[in-house]
Amino acid sequence: MAFLCASCGQHYANDSGRWCCECGGLLEPAERTVFQTAVIERGEFSLWRYRKLLPLPEGAEPVSLGEGWTPIVSLELAGRPLQLKLEFLAPSGSFKDRGTSVLVSALRALGVGQVVEDSSGNAAASLAAYAARAGIEAQICVPAYTSPAKLRQIEVYGARTIRVPGPREQAGERARQLAGETKAYYASHVYSPWALAGLKTFVYELWEQLGEKLPEWLIYPVGQGTFLYGSYLGLCELKEAGLIRRLPRLVAVQAERCAPLWAAFAEHSPTQIVEQERQSTGPTIAEGIAMRSPVRLEQVVRALRRTGGQVVTVSEEEIYRAQQELAHQGLYVEPTSAAALAGWQRLRESLPADEPVLLPLTGSGLKSAKQISSGE
Ligand SMILES: [Zn+2]
Repeated sequence: MAFLCASCGQHYANDSGRWCCECGGLLEPAERTVFQTAVIERGEFSLWRYRKLLPLPEGAEPVSLGEGWTPIVSLELAGRPLQLKLEFLAPSGSFKDRGTSVLVSALRALGVGQVVEDSSGNAAASLAAYAARAGIEAQICVPAYTSPAKLRQIEVYGARTIRVPGPREQAGERARQLAGETKAYYASHVYSPWALAGLKTFVYELWEQLGEKLPEWLIYPVGQGTFLYGSYLGLCELKEAGLIRRLPRLVAVQAERCAPLWAAFAEHSPTQIVEQERQSTGPTIAEGIAMRSPVRLEQVVRALRRTGGQVVTVSEEEIYRAQQELAHQGLYVEPTSAAALAGWQRLRESLPADEPVLLPLTGSGLKSAKQISSGE
């Protein structure tokens, strides 16, 4: 299977080792995967049960830590049923492991010995874990403001961290520069078509675990939008295979303090955006979704429109309360994950009572830099 540039249409072999097109565009699998239940390895309880549906280079073997096949928990909150898929139970504590496992498996098959990535959180920890498992050397460019708690998880796996002063984007530039100067592959979870393919397994699993059906609504916290977009691609495959009649509606939740997708989706006027930002200043506690310029913005907007979905923004107070509410149910997640529940709470009254809703709980509270007790 080949990859295709979403901007200019250029094709690349899936063993070319490119992380983006020469034009800078994003790579995607050139052909849509044909989802077939016959190829599912039903005795394998990890995402590798879908191995034959993943666009891996010839001969690639899984670099696995047992990711995927996460449990689903049903709750009743405020008199309404809700299902939660516990993605934070992944090996490194976040959903990112789905993409990383597939990405690192591809890279090991291509003989890559060094990787570089930029991230201050879950993606970096995930890459560091899988690089360790694969025997690949990892360097992570982190913003200088990254908390010691997060650095510890990245470094304990054996990755080297490089602190980059300035805003988040500077770390990305430094990582790409390093990849250009050295033999290291830029293993970006945002750009990589392999990481995107790994994320599709979330909806494959959901369909299987819920008895070959899907909920009406899926609610995601969205920063870069790779999880929502990967899910969308998987949903399209299930529909094309005739396994679902229509696509679930996808809802993206953003923090009021950083909501570029909200602005793009609703085509809000600059005045409305300025007004929203005026009301809420300072960084959001949902740091995992605080992306000012998401790389896949247009793709995510298109996916939301095609499913009849929407974007909701939530305040800091709502995120904090949602995190507490989950903790009071025994689920300790990071504020970014709790934002999805806050989004559901905003929407709840407008959703038909008979339409099932599910949201992924994306990241563990244990490695969150912001403590639940402080509220900020
Ligand atoms: Zn291109």
